[in-house]
Amino acid sequence: MGTLTDDLRRNSASAPYRCLACQATLSSDGDDLLRCPACQKSWPIRDGVPRFFEPSYYWGEVSRSEAGEFLKQAKEIGWHPAAMSRFSGDRDMQISLTDWQRASWLPLFGLNEESVALDIGCGYGAITSSLARAAGQVFSLEAVPERIEFTRIRMSQEGLSNVSLVQASALDPPFSDGMFDLVIVNGVLEWVGEWNHEGNPRGVQLGFLKQMCRILKPHGTLLVGIENRWAYNAVFGSIDHSGLPYTNLMPRWMATWWLRRSTREHTHTVLNSKRQYRTYTYGARGYQKLLADSGLPATSMYWPDPDYNQPFSLIPLDSGLIADRVDTLLSEPTAPLRYGWVRAIKRMLARSGALEFAVSSFVILASKASSRRDPGFWRLLRARLPDLPELRAPKFSFYSNPFGLKNVIRVFENGAIDPVCVVKTTTLSPGAGSSLDREYRCMQIVNERFGPGKDNSFSVPRPLGFTSIGSFAYLAESVAPGLPLSRAVFPATGTKRFEFLKKVLPQCVTAAVQITQGLTSEERVDRVDPSWLNPPEEITADPKALAQLRSLLGRCQADSVQHGDFTMENVFVTPSGGVAIIDWEHMFRGGSALHDIFTLFVSLILSEPHAGPTTGAPGLAQFEEAFFGSGRWGFPFRASIREACASLQVPERDVLPMLVHFLLLRFNQLKSRNSRLAAQHGAYLDATLRNADRFLIDVSAGHQ
Ligand SMILES: [Zn+2]
Repeated sequence: MGTLTDDLRRNSASAPYRCLACQATLSSDGDDLLRCPACQKSWPIRDGVPRFFEPSYYWGEVSRSEAGEFLKQAKEIGWHPAAMSRFSGDRDMQISLTDWQRASWLPLFGLNEESVALDIGCGYGAITSSLARAAGQVFSLEAVPERIEFTRIRMSQEGLSNVSLVQASALDPPFSDGMFDLVIVNGVLEWVGEWNHEGNPRGVQLGFLKQMCRILKPHGTLLVGIENRWAYNAVFGSIDHSGLPYTNLMPRWMATWWLRRSTREHTHTVLNSKRQYRTYTYGARGYQKLLADSGLPATSMYWPDPDYNQPFSLIPLDSGLIADRVDTLLSEPTAPLRYGWVRAIKRMLARSGALEFAVSSFVILASKASSRRDPGFWRLLRARLPDLPELRAPKFSFYSNPFGLKNVIRVFENGAIDPVCVVKTTTLSPGAGSSLDREYRCMQIVNERFGPGKDNSFSVPRPLGFTSIGSFAYLAESVAPGLPLSRAVFPATGTKRFEFLKKVLPQCVTAAVQITQGLTSEERVDRVDPSWLNPPEEITADPKALAQLRSLLGRCQADSVQHGDFTMENVFVTPSGGVAIIDWEHMFRGGSALHDIFTLFVSLILSEPHAGPTTGAPGLAQFEEAFFGSGRWGFPFRASIREACASLQVPERDVLPMLVHFLLLRFNQLKSRNSRLAAQHGAYLDATLRNADRFLIDVSAGHQ
């Protein structure tokens, strides 16, 4: 008896290949041959991989002999250690090979075990590996045998058995019509003109996209990751696909002329004997036109930041949302400060509305049916969570991190800048599910204690539902009013910033005090991980410092429940003085009563733009000024701490032990999250131990 599921499987998975010559469905002829029953043409299967195409060239990030070496190593010591050691100095390559967040966008599609996905040009299998964890069945097409072999080894070592590797040309995919729910074309479309030198490159791209359209299901989605022809960084001489700068900005004929004139060796000289400019990229409109001409008229465009190969955030191509994102980036203390001038230019462009046209690259979602313009997760989520708002034309901005545990999706009505709700999702990271579970649990506790109708000075987001779709969990919550403190503080500079802090800090500290008081008796909160109190190696190696640390920790009362990540990104303020606290997933028992207050202060110190590397650890001078010296950083911190001590009945002699306890715990917590801020906290801890006898809590003592 055939069920619908069986039918779906029969239509796609069991007869996936069609004859490249006559388009009849291929059948397998033993284990090592696929044969066309109509025209008798056949293709070999080697190592379980059907081989439709034997390239006459090799192409890759490393040379062919290095690739052979790499394969040998992957077999011997495992693909992951092999990748990490081969690219040990190159974080971008490590991310490119090993980060599941290369496919960060997967939770947007609502895939499940019935879904069939295709990765075009799988390379070393990073995206394929993520797809295999999100879809029921995955096909992965690649032309270069070394890359197929690496991906084959990788899939087998990861125990992923739902991936079918196919050696074929992307221009001539051997798949049956209407097979795929999702097709990934990441970093491919710009190259296809190099793979067929006949005719106009746009024509080759069009032919390729028509094939993608053919193999998509009627409601399937094509994802294209690709550079913007008019990227602002091209103006500053970033290298185009031709191997030369500026060629993307030139008229196509001029790019060809320039390429022929150039004597510089470049990757594609071997491929393209005519030395014709064939790696066409376009602007947003150009891609939309190209996709529409291919039968995929419904598109939504995103700006992936930093780029489509590291799509850690996806911002809809909407000038308001882009300007908002750039402002956020510039006020984030955890954002890398390198490329500072690039960020400054981005901000300027964003404010003028020009960045919408000049973003570095795009992630484009395209489909045949205009009714399916939006990513599928929202439809599925709305059907399950009745508290979600109904929207005419929803837009989504998406935020995550390299190797992240969590994605945050902000949901907007089209044209609005203020979100209507926030949806958090898991990623494919191990432990992501339990982390979001925990966040939901913490949120419920916090809503019982501090939700609407309770007598406290701050608000917390309301949970709107929790569910799973396929491999991903989704937690929806209401939006906190106001702006994160980081963004409220940032526009003010110098003295103005301190004036502003003097005004808002007391309200934030009051919220922290009320959290500590309100959760004292809460039994359902997890205790702190004991390893988070292990001293850093530098201190373990120094017996005197170790003894001092132990003695201070011994004097620290630490049984409070704390928010656990009370940074200036998680504390929201409104112009009328309202405070809201978000992101409760790190709530724990076993902190000192001042833990959250210290977290906030240190995050403020770290955000100070003058905190450059010239003064040792960033912010170290400000930190020392705040707690061990005179100057403006002593105030308003010390005044706030004294007030908190009075409210919480903490004797002032306990403040130093609590600061040490906080720094140690935060150092280990950040280290466990691979945060680069861990080192700063280590340096502050070191400074605190060295300067312990100069510790100041009395404000007046700091103003001689
Ligand atoms: Zn045939």
